[in-house]
Amino acid sequence: MASVIMKEGIVISQDNGKHELILDPNKKVRHKDNTLVSISHAHSDHVRKHEARVLCTPETSCLMPFEAKVRKKYWEEIEFDGMTVTQANANHILGSSQLVIDTKDERIVYTGDFRLKESMLGKAEIIEADTIIIESTYGLPKFRFPEIREVQSQLIDWIEREKQKGNNVLLGAYSLGKAQEVTKLLNESGEKPLVNEQIAYYNNIYKKNKVNLEYYTTEKDEEVKEAPFTAVTQHNKIKEEARRLSSETGRKTSTAVLTGWSSLYNFTGIHKTFQLPDHADFYQILEYVENAKPRKVLTVHGYSKQLAKIIEKLFSIKAKPLE
Ligand SMILES: [Zn+2]
Repeated sequence: MASVIMKEGIVISQDNGKHELILDPNKKVRHKDNTLVSISHAHSDHVRKHEARVLCTPETSCLMPFEAKVRKKYWEEIEFDGMTVTQANANHILGSSQLVIDTKDERIVYTGDFRLKESMLGKAEIIEADTIIIESTYGLPKFRFPEIREVQSQLIDWIEREKQKGNNVLLGAYSLGKAQEVTKLLNESGEKPLVNEQIAYYNNIYKKNKVNLEYYTTEKDEEVKEAPFTAVTQHNKIKEEARRLSSETGRKTSTAVLTGWSSLYNFTGIHKTFQLPDHADFYQILEYVENAKPRKVLTVHGYSKQLAKIIEKLFSIKAKPLE
């Protein structure tokens, strides 16, 4: 039987424990031999320059500041210590993956950060497994996300109104993931936003990986700023950026932050917030568990204790937090 424990990351090893498959370690992994590190996606909390071999998708490798040694597309297999390891779309950000580990006697699936609602990145498959290791970032019943299409059209309507009033619009979003999704949304409504350097860097990688995005960069900003326009910046830079745009253009700049869950943050001084999550909410987590038909569930990140209790009760299967 494979063992699954939490150390510097989720460590999976077989009988003799000589080889370790380490999922999303939050510290640099130094031991090189007998170790394979898997990075589920390129958000900075998951990315370290490990000395051990790193497995990820080619897209994740492009988004990281170093190149991974083992780059595999979705459903391309790699053998490690008698286990077959494959990655599947997690639909969280570009290249994000779930990990499927087939040992000689069971299938283990690690969802990583995932989202079941379809997006420009496609769909996350629900993978049947004996054991699933599932993220619990939004693992409480109070986390029910609104219908994404509704929020998107509210955002587009609000932008239109603000521009008609003669205001610039500045949107704050996490630079990797959310900023690209909002760029795409604006494109679909006929807008080409001005984005800052950091966001342009990631937008460009998305483009190279076949997600077509249209945007202006700061080189073109003189032209764009002649009339009210829409810009995208990092959520934590929005206030200073709004002040700068207003003084440069002599127009008021209306601000909105795009969040996963609005009430988790304090947004004083921001005009609006819109919920555009790139994670699963509580109900998507339960949908995953129900359809994956596992015998055992391990919960990680966020509300892992509470979620494990709920799953155990609801589905009458073994569930516990992996801590
Ligand atoms: Zn993430």
